[in-house]
Order: sequence, then C-alpha cells, then structure tokens
Amino acid sequence: MSKKVAVIGAGTMGNGIAHVFALFGNDVTLIDIQEDILNSALGKIEKNLNRQLKKGTITQDQLNETLKRIKTSTDMQSAANAELVVEAVIENDELKKNIFKQLDFICPSETILASNTSSISITELAAVTSRPDKVIGMHFMNPVPVMELVEIIRGLATSDETYQAVYDMAKALQKTPVEVNDYPGFISNRVLMPMINEAIYCLMEGVADKEAIDTVMKLGMNHPMGPLTLADFIGLDVCLHIMNVLYKGLGDPKYRPCPLLKKMVAAGHLGRKTKKGFYTYE
Ligand code: NAD
Repeated sequence: MSKKVAVIGAGTMGNGIAHVFALFGNDVTLIDIQEDILNSALGKIEKNLNRQLKKGTITQDQLNETLKRIKTSTDMQSAANAELVVEAVIENDELKKNIFKQLDFICPSETILASNTSSISITELAAVTSRPDKVIGMHFMNPVPVMELVEIIRGLATSDETYQAVYDMAKALQKTPVEVNDYPGFISNRVLMPMINEAIYCLMEGVADKEAIDTVMKLGMNHPMGPLTLADFIGLDVCLHIMNVLYKGLGDPKYRPCPLLKKMVAAGHLGRKTKKGFYTYE
C-alpha cells in the first residue's frame, strides 16, 4: 500500500532511503537545508537507479516512475502531509531533538516519526515529542538500495501498532526487519564496534600487523573484509564516536575506546575519507 513519506536529510543515507521508498511505490518528499544538496542527492539516486537498470534488477519504467515519485524541498513544513517521516540528518543529538520537536508540531498526530540514527537513544528522541508511542528507530544500512537489513528499534514507549506499521513498511521495501530494544548501539554497533576496537588493540599491542589481523578475520571467520579495512571504510571518527556512546551508555570499561583509535582520530587519519587510516588510499 502506497504511503506518503518524508525523508529529512538528503546525505548518504537520506538519498538511499528516498530511493527505496520511491522504488516501491511511495510518494517521497526529500527535505534538506540547501537546493544544491537536494540536486546532488537526486543525481545520486538517478545514478544508483541506472546501476540497478544495468544489472537488470529494475526496468526503465520503474526508473522513470521512481524519479517522478520524489519531490524535494528546503522547507520542513513540506513534511506536513506525511504518514511516515524518516529522519536522516547528521548524527547530532541536539539537532535531531530539535527536528523531532518541529516534526511533532508540523505533522498530524497519527504520523509516525522514525529516526535512522546509529547511536542516539530513540527513547530520548521520543521524549521531546507529544507522541512517544509513535516514535521509532528505522536503522538502514549503507548503501541502502543494496543492504537487506533494517534494525527496527523500539523506544521505551513505542506502541505495538507503530512497530507493526514500520515492520510492514520495511517488508514492503523488500528488506529484512529485525526487532531491537533501545540500548546503546542497538545490535549492529554493539557487536561490530567492540570487535573493531579489539582488532585495533591487537594492532597497538603488536599481536600482529594490520594485514595479518584482517586476514585472520577474512579467511578464518569468513568476513567479507577485515575489521581494520572495515574501520577505514566506516570512518575512524565514526568508530570512536560509537565506542564512546557504548562506553558512556553502558558504563562498562570493556567498551573503552582503544588509545590508538583516539590517536589516529586526533591526527586526522580518519580512513578512506581522508585517504589515510590503517591503510593509505589513492
Ligand atoms: P550525511 O552527512 O551524509 O547527511 C546528512 C544530511 O543532513 C546532509 O545532507 C545535511 O545537509 C542534512 N542536514 C543537516 N541539518 C539538517 C536540517 N536541519 N534539516 C534537514 N537536513 C539537514 O550523513 P549520513 O551518513 O547520511 O547519516 C545520516 C544519519 O544516518 C546519521 O544519524 C547516521 O548516524 C545514520 N547512519 C549512517 C550510516 C552510514 O553508513 N553513513 C549508516 C546507518 C545510519
């Protein structure tokens, strides 16, 4: 069943989220702060749809229809007729809380407000609204059109109706939704980041060199890429941020970020995006 969906934030995740909602028949309004960001997001969506067309997973008609279903706006008021809003702005609590307050004011009381946050508490975002039962996490993975998983995070007050509606929506996007309760890092980052952090400790303590650590996890555990390569891909600043969220939120010293990770971030060696992390990139 087609829905009216607003996506707030047209960056890496927002454009992917808009892409999949529109591809599966929903009317999407993509909202960001500047026209040029929205135009570049539309360009990225078109490029990714063309990639799917070349692979034969969608038809030319589906490509055209998908693009037609996406409208853009720099005005948050454009979310006013949405049945579902998915927020995907930068990972900053104050900004997200501010946006949830605005959405709560703008959208009808039945609109579900979802966040794609990787590490901010859904319960806290819900608490700034007058509809905590209708606030939920919808954590897509990057790249959104390719990755099948969506973690659906229930805040303390999220209702069963809201959960079911978002679960059904994720299914309609041909994703695999997984139910998760709101604790720091949800499942994905709670399990992944300590593994990456431990790999960095191994490197720091001289247990092995970086290639050896990555090779063990790739060939021994069948991971598609080693943890240090993956950390470079995610961004070392993002890894450090999430370790700090786990450390602070769970209060257990086992989550303390590795000093080498902190040192690399301080040096500006953030991984692929700065062309230097554990590896160097051309
Ligand atoms: P990004 O920096 O690529 O995009 C964020 C967008 O938000 C930018 O286009 C920015 O202009 C926009 N924005 C900022 N303030 C805004 C406002 N007031 N109103 C509207 N738009 C505004 O970030 P991203 O990587 O797409 O991450 C977005 C969210 O998704 C974050 O919460 C992040 O934790 C989460 N996430 C990211 C990934 C990933 O791999 N990148 C994976 C899962 C979840």
